[in-house]
Amino acid sequence: MTGGLEGYDAVAEANAQKSVLAIHWSRICERLKAEVGEVEYRTWLRQITVGPVEEDEITLYLPTRFLRDWVRGQYGDRLGTLWNAEVPAIRRVELQVARPGSASATPPADGAAAPAAVAREEAAPRAPAPAPVAEEPRQAEVRSDLAAPLDPRFTFDTFVVGKPNEFAYACARRVAERPSSPGFNPLFLYGGVGLGKTHLMHAIGAELLREGRVSVAYMSAEKFMYRFIAAIRSQSTMEFKEQLRSVDVLMIDDLQFLIGKDNTQEEFFHTFNALVDAGRQIVVSADKSPSDLSGLEDRLRTRLGCGMVADIHATTFELRISILEAKASASGVVVPAKVLEFLAHKITSNVRELEGALNRLIAHANLFGRPVTLEATQDVLHDILKAHDRRVTIEEIQRKVAEHWNIRLTDMSSARRARAVARPRQVAMYLAKQLTSRSLPEIGRKFGNRDHTTVMHAVTRVTELMEQDPAFAEDVELLRRMLES
Ligand code: ADP
Ligand code: MG
Repeated sequence: MTGGLEGYDAVAEANAQKSVLAIHWSRICERLKAEVGEVEYRTWLRQITVGPVEEDEITLYLPTRFLRDWVRGQYGDRLGTLWNAEVPAIRRVELQVARPGSASATPPADGAAAPAAVAREEAAPRAPAPAPVAEEPRQAEVRSDLAAPLDPRFTFDTFVVGKPNEFAYACARRVAERPSSPGFNPLFLYGGVGLGKTHLMHAIGAELLREGRVSVAYMSAEKFMYRFIAAIRSQSTMEFKEQLRSVDVLMIDDLQFLIGKDNTQEEFFHTFNALVDAGRQIVVSADKSPSDLSGLEDRLRTRLGCGMVADIHATTFELRISILEAKASASGVVVPAKVLEFLAHKITSNVRELEGALNRLIAHANLFGRPVTLEATQDVLHDILKAHDRRVTIEEIQRKVAEHWNIRLTDMSSARRARAVARPRQVAMYLAKQLTSRSLPEIGRKFGNRDHTTVMHAVTRVTELMEQDPAFAEDVELLRRMLES
């Protein structure tokens, strides 16, 4: 494993802090609404936005002096009590006048929502009210006339490498070192949501810009389409084409967006050809491999598959732990190994969610100066954890596992002991133990009335095999992810 997270920054932390406060605030609002009634709440209290916490005091904002005075007079004490009950470290409430959303709701520099910025917003749970705490990430120097800014946090240094992503990482590094090498053009990165595609593309961009030799344009496929449509409307398609064709490296993120958008696809195809023919580098990402992107024109799919195709696999437990360790240590907050393991077990869907959960924990620890413990984690993250505790049924598990290994569903309960059948059955038992709250005897009953010791043996065996065989481990993780999503 390589990669550190020197770049862990205050912005992510401040955002997470905001989201922690927002969760507390939304609970307080529920109580207030119940206490004072909907009408009263809407008239006076709904306009409050949450500001920063300093020592034991939280600042709340109201849009006008009048509202501030009224709320202070009528509800000041109550607000103080409720905050204190929710967060004992908060002992005082300060009410101030501020325009709602004046500080934190500033849009990214280029006016349109940058894909990178959007991705960040998804990472943190949405806050009901904007809180004037943090600023947006700064914009790097890219071809800002036609591209989106690069997120300075997404570099090779901050990317944690493990089995599931080492190939994609190596390809990305290689392209950043020597763009347009034969065999690596285009570079096509694909994988599920939140597994690091955008991160790697920005890292390539950042690296190339650091060298300062080339011009780089990065944009989402969606933005590509909007730029193209805008160019048609303003009759400036020639200019748009020329601009695109003048860059050394063009990166288009989430290409699957172009499915069904025939004209834009056509334009992209021509741009693509013109650039590759001129010896420029193309980097593309998508959620599927070129051959699985049905709905893209055949000739485009063919060309996309002509360079290097690299997939990012679902994370393994090991990679999740490494990522958490790196991010926790960069944050400076001590997070016990037990907590990291708990998170890596519970949040398996993708890195974005994992990161969001950890950021929230770190923010909570910094905000209230309390050590991170397992109990605190369960409390602070209870909403996230609940969402991941979705009830999966044993039948669902059996069906998915049977499909995955191409065996009959009835073999889950049959007496057949051939390895080809017995192994998937063991995996299904293992997943049933991991993903449901059923007891061993209950699980055994669902698998053709087997004894609970058989289930126990299956759990041990699968755990061992996962340690020995990374490919097998990945299969099991993938199944788990599918069942949990
Ligand atoms: P995608 O574009 O594949 O949906 P992103 O690149 O936006 O995913 O990644 C989601 C979040 O997870 C980002 O904050 C990113 O920095 C983080 N992330 C993903 N993979 C890794 C990794 N291997 N190491 C560190 N951070 C990662
Ligand atoms: Mg992305």
